[in-house]
Formats: sequence, C-alpha cells, structure tokens
Amino acid sequence: MSRPIRATVNTTALSHNLRTVKALAPASKVWSVVKANAYGHGLSRCYEALAFTDGFALLNYEEAILLREAGITQPILLLEGFFKPNDLPLIDAYQLTTAVHSEWQLQALANFPAKKPIAVYLKINNGMNRLGFSPDEVLTIWQRLKVLPSVGEVTLMSHFARADENSIFLREPLQRLAQATTAISAPRCYANSAATLWHPDTHHQWIRPGVVLYGASPSGRAVDIEPYNLRPVMGLHSEIIAIQQVTAGEGIGYGHRYTTTAPQRIGIIACGYADGYPRHAPSGTPVWVAGKLCKTVGTVSMDMLMVDLTNCPEANIGSDVELWGAQLPVDTIAEAAGTVGYELLTAVTQRVPFTTLT
Ligand SMILES: *Cc1c(COP(=O)(O)O)cnc(C)c1O
Repeated sequence: MSRPIRATVNTTALSHNLRTVKALAPASKVWSVVKANAYGHGLSRCYEALAFTDGFALLNYEEAILLREAGITQPILLLEGFFKPNDLPLIDAYQLTTAVHSEWQLQALANFPAKKPIAVYLKINNGMNRLGFSPDEVLTIWQRLKVLPSVGEVTLMSHFARADENSIFLREPLQRLAQATTAISAPRCYANSAATLWHPDTHHQWIRPGVVLYGASPSGRAVDIEPYNLRPVMGLHSEIIAIQQVTAGEGIGYGHRYTTTAPQRIGIIACGYADGYPRHAPSGTPVWVAGKLCKTVGTVSMDMLMVDLTNCPEANIGSDVELWGAQLPVDTIAEAAGTVGYELLTAVTQRVPFTTLT
C-alpha cells in the first residue's frame, strides 16, 4: 500500500545506551543531548526512554517547551544560550538553564528582572574558537554573574575540538581550563560523547553525551565504539521493488558510473537521497538484503538505489532491506559517503514514516 521505506526507533536501545553511559561516568550527572529533534529520532518519541536522565540539553525553545509541556521536571539546558534579550521571559517562565557565551548576554541578564534566578552555564572557549569567553576573562565574568540577582547557580562549561582523537590533543585545552578556573568554586561540565568515552578526566560533575545515546560513534568510525556495548537506536529499512538481470558490460543508473563485469542480478531498492540516504555513497557501500550483506552499484538516485544481488540469490521483489540499523552501523554508511553518522541520522527526510519499537 504505502512505499516500503520506513525508519524505526528502538527506545529500549536508547534506555540501554543511557544506562551504559551512566556506568561509564558513575560520579557525574548526565545531560542527555536531544537537540535536532533527538538527533533525527523524534524528540516526542524519545524523551520517555530517557526519563531517568538528570537533564535534557537542546537548542530550540520549541523543543524545550515540548518537554516541559510533556511534564518533564528535570533541568533543560540551552546549549547555545539565548538569542535575543527578549528571550529571557521564556527562559524564566519555563525554568530553562542557559549557556552564556557573550558579553551582551551578561548585560541582558543584568537588566532582566527574573521571577526565579536563572541557572547559567558559563561557556569557556578552550581552543574550539566557536562559542565562549576566553580563559583569561572567565574569572571576571564568573564574579560578575554571581552577583546578578537574576542569576542562580553558575556552572562552568566548555567543549573540546578534538576529544575523539588521541589524548595529546586534550592536554593543552585541559591545562588552559584548569589554569583559568582554579579560583572558581563551581561545578564543571566539559565532556561530550567522545570525552565521556575516552577521557574520564573530563567528566567532573556533569557530562553532555549526545550521539552515543543513539548508538553511533563520536569519531564517525563504527569500530571505535565496538568495545562499549552501545546499541543502534535508528534503523532505516525498505524493500526490493524490482530486479534487473543484466549482461556483462552494461552501465547501471545515472551517468553509468558502474559497469557490470559479468552477468549480474541487480536489485532496485525504494530508498534514495530524497529519503536521506547519502548521494555520495559510492558503488560498494554495504546494504543488508534478506539477511545477507550486499553492495550498492551505481549512483544513488533521488528515490532509488541499486544493489548487486550476487551474494544473495534468494533475494526477490519484496525482500527486506536494511540501509542502516542493527546489522549495519550508520557510521559504516557514513564513512563510505565521506561523512559521519550524526549527519545521516539528522537528515532522514519528512517523507520517511517512523515507527517506535519498544
Ligand atoms: C551537540 C553537543 C554536545 C553533544 O555532542 P556529541 O558529540 O553528540 O556527544 C555536547 N555539547 C554541546 C555544546 C553540543 O553542541
């Protein structure tokens, strides 16, 4: 009846991954990062499975309000802070915790008569050079924040540019942070997923894991998270909708970017880049067909992609296809396409129906 493409979200796997993360950082509280509609999985579909988290971190007021209206009472952290001074009434009303990364935000807080003191995450730039105050001004900013009547608890926040690499690359940022904050008595929150997995010295009072909750790799390499018993949360599935028997020397798909070298049975799958499958995935990208590993052939089109069925003679029209999921890590597909699992998870398009598995 409907086109066979579908995405599944396994909420049991999501809860399992949060428990796994908590066990890796037993002394820390956890902000579950659910920005970008829970990394493309659907926030309203996911928050219950994460209900035992210590807080939720995101960027949008819409998503924060969705959580509050669903009855979430844990703290909610705005990772990019507020965007305009007149956002503060909303933050006050919904009791959101906000990052503060720029001087104008301090001024806005100073001028705002909050009904309840607003919890603040003071963002420190340790070398990412994206958001945050420079280490040498942090002490002054902290002192100024502390005396503002509108400001409640202040936590120090920072973000690493290279936490998914060798710990050598964290030495300097960590030193910079330690030096800048020795005189400051406040909780710290520095670790994203990569730092949570690979740099326990960054854990402190709060961690902020995102992608690992969804069972994908912070480095973009599937092999790097194999030791951690994380489970993929999203599956992208479809079916074979046609079969072509082609002879040797025939081109397949747009631009004939693949030419058969022998007679080949080609499966046509109802999934293309307009569903969120990466167009840059080259011939040879793995696809799971009827329980067997096969490989794509030719350029991914808007609505279809083609697969060599040599490894799977039993495959036929209607055979199940997993594009990524439990059998095939999203990072494996991302690597083939020159990107990271984060991008594929957040790029599944509107026309793909989602179902929740529990
Ligand atoms: C997205 C984000 C995170 C989570 O990153 P992961 O790599 O998915 O763990 C943590 N902190 C900030 C500031 C972020 O923007």
